[in-house]
Amino acid sequence: METPQNYGFVIDNRKCIGCHACSTACKSENEVPLGVYRTWVKYVETGTYPDTRRHFQVTRCNHCANPPCVRICPVEAMFQRDDGIVEFDKNICIGCKACMQACPYDAIHIDPASSTAAKCNYCAHRIDIGLEPACVVVCPEQAIISGDINDPTTEISHLLSTQDVTVRKPEQGTAPKVFYIDGNDISLHPTATERTPETYMWADVVPLHGSNGHSKNESKNGTYAAPQTKERNMRWAQGDMDIRVPQTQGQPSAGPIQFGTRIAEQMVQVGYNAQHKIPWHWPVPAYLVTKGIAAGIFMLMALGWGLNWFSFDSRTALIGGFLTLVFTAVTTFFLVIDLERPARFLYIVFRPQWKSWLARGAFILITFSIIALLYWLFEIGANLYDYDSVVRYILLWLGLPFALGVAVYTAYLFAQAEGRDLWQSPLLPFQLVVQAFLAGSGVLLIIDLFAPMPADMSRAVTIAFAAALIINLFITLAGEFGVAHPSEVAARAAHEISHGRYSTKFWWGAIGLGHVLPLALLAISAFTGSAAPILLAIAALAAIIGLYLYEYVFVMAPQDIPNS
Ligand code: SF4
Repeated sequence: METPQNYGFVIDNRKCIGCHACSTACKSENEVPLGVYRTWVKYVETGTYPDTRRHFQVTRCNHCANPPCVRICPVEAMFQRDDGIVEFDKNICIGCKACMQACPYDAIHIDPASSTAAKCNYCAHRIDIGLEPACVVVCPEQAIISGDINDPTTEISHLLSTQDVTVRKPEQGTAPKVFYIDGNDISLHPTATERTPETYMWADVVPLHGSNGHSKNESKNGTYAAPQTKERNMRWAQGDMDIRVPQTQGQPSAGPIQFGTRIAEQMVQVGYNAQHKIPWHWPVPAYLVTKGIAAGIFMLMALGWGLNWFSFDSRTALIGGFLTLVFTAVTTFFLVIDLERPARFLYIVFRPQWKSWLARGAFILITFSIIALLYWLFEIGANLYDYDSVVRYILLWLGLPFALGVAVYTAYLFAQAEGRDLWQSPLLPFQLVVQAFLAGSGVLLIIDLFAPMPADMSRAVTIAFAAALIINLFITLAGEFGVAHPSEVAARAAHEISHGRYSTKFWWGAIGLGHVLPLALLAISAFTGSAAPILLAIAALAAIIGLYLYEYVFVMAPQDIPNS
C-alpha cells in the first residue's frame, strides 16, 4: 500500500539571516492583513555588550500530527488534510477562538478582515498544483525546506535522517512537524525571555490588556494598533515628535532570568516577535457563573424533591424554573457575544464537530433548556388547571443529569485548550459542580428575601450554600498551593494569580469577599440563632461576586503567559 503524504518543514537555523522575506512573501501570497502574521521571524538577543548574539527563529503553525486545534474546533473549520496539512476554512469559522486556546504555539490569530481564525496553511493552494509554499521559494538562503516527510527520496527526509533536529514544546504531545536544525532553547522556549520588553526592533510593544479581544473593536482599519500607538502616529503626522522615541534598550528583567532549573548568566531579551492578543475576556468568566447558577438551582430542586430532602410549593417551583431558564438564556447570550462571528452561532448546531466539547456543551445546554422549559410549562399548567401531574417530577429527574452536564462540561472544554496548562487541572470537573451548588443556592437565598421559600427548603439551601463555600475554598486553595503544577507555564500562571497581576482580585475578591465574608456572616447567623434572610442574602451576593472574580483570574492569568 502506498504511504500517504505527510507534509512538514525543516528550518535550518544555520542558514537563516533573519531577513523576513518569508514573512513578507507569506503576507503577499495569502493577503494577510496588517498587524497579524501567519509566519514571522522571532529575534532573541543574548549576551552582554560587546559580546552579544542574535538568534533567529522562523515561527509558524507546526502542522502537528496530533493537532489540538482541530479537536477543539466546534464546526470543523480547522481540519487536518489527508496529506498532514492543518488547514482552516474561513467560510464556516464562527470565531470562538477556542483553537487559539488549544494551540500551544500561538500559531493562530483572528484575521481582522474576516473576523475568523487564520494561520499558516502550508500554502495548500500552491501544494495542490505542485508548487512549493511561498516562503520556501522566496528564502534567499534555502533555510526553509518543505516536503513529504514520508517519502525517503525528498530533501526534507534526507535532512531529518542525517541532522539533529528539535521542535517547539515536544512535551505537549502534539507531534509538531516544523523541525529546527540548530534550534536553540532560548528561542524555542517562550518563557525563557521577558514577556514585554520596552520595545521591539521595528515595532512597538502592544499591551496585552486593554480591549475585549474582539478584532473588530481593535481597529476600524484592520490593524491591531493600540490606542497609545494611534495617538503617537497622530503626533508624528503633525510633526510633533521624533520618528522614534528613544527607549531603554537591552535592560535585563527585574531578576535573574530562569530557564527551567538553570539561571542564565547573561542578558536574554526578545528583539522582535509577533504579538498575540488575549482571546477570551470577561464574557467567559461571566458565562461560567451564569451557567453555574442555572445548573445549581435545577440540581438543588431535583435533588431536594428526588431524595425527599425538602419539599417546595408550586410558587417556589415556578420561581426556580423561571430562574433556571433566565440564567440559561444569559449563558447563551454570553457565549454568542464572545464570538467574532456571532451570526454564525447556529453553525454549531447544524454542522457540529463531535470531538469538540464546545459542540457537545452546546447540545447539553440546548437539551437542558428544553427540559427546564417543559418542566416550567407543566408547573404553570398545574397552577392554572390544578392537576397533579407526575410528568413535571419526571422532567425534574430527567433534567438532573443534563444540569450536571451543564455544570461540568466546561472542565473538559478547558482540558482541550492545551495551550493553557493551568486549565488542565484534574480538580476542575468536581470544582465546577461545587461552584454550581454555590451559585445556585446563593441565588435562591437572595430570592428568598423577596419570595420566601418553605422553611425546610430554606434550611436545606442554606446548608448546601455553606457546604459549597467551605469545599470550594478548600479546592481553590489546594489547587493554588497544595498540588504541584504540571509545568513551569502552569506555575507561572498560578503565580500571577497569587502574587502577580491578579493577586488583588484573587485575595480580596475571590477569597475575602467570596468566601471569608460569607462564611463570617453564616457564622454570625448560626451563633445568634437568627437565620436572618438579609444576612444570608448579603452572604450569597458576596459569594457570587467573589465567584465571578475567581473565574476571571482563572480564565485570564494563563492567557498572559506567552506561547511563542
Ligand atoms: Fe498548528 Fe497550533 Fe494546530 Fe499545531 S496546534 S497544528 S501548531 S495551529
